[in-house]
Amino acid sequence: MSQAPETIFSKIIRREIPADIVYEDGLAIAFRDVSPQAPIHILVIPKKPIPRLSEAEQQDETLLGHLLRVVQQVAVQEKLEQGFRVVINNGEDGGQTVEHLHLHLLGGRSLSWPPG
Ligand code: 5GP
Repeated sequence: MSQAPETIFSKIIRREIPADIVYEDGLAIAFRDVSPQAPIHILVIPKKPIPRLSEAEQQDETLLGHLLRVVQQVAVQEKLEQGFRVVINNGEDGGQTVEHLHLHLLGGRSLSWPPG
């Protein structure tokens, strides 16, 4: 894995900048996106600064599974029983702008498909 860059998300994890945190455990943290694309738009991130999904390693397998379990739990918390979407943007063509792996949890309205 390449050297993980310092990002705005590292600062959120360390509480150096404010965020509306909705979930936290030893491995992950979830907070509301500052520019929501749906009524509910939450980012679930590992505390480990993996830059992007394509740089995750075999040793991260359990952590990656854990992030999906966190999504599940936050979706219940946010009452998204009607459905939701989970998105991971990876790299430039994937539209990734923050180089710290994050899962977008989107819901609260009917979402169209395919995304742009
Ligand atoms: P990406 O485009 O990398 O998949 O998603 C990055 C997301 O992080 C964007 O949806 C953007 O709105 C969100 N974001 C960027 N900076 C901040 C911030 O300082 N606080 C919060 N809560 N979200 C941020």
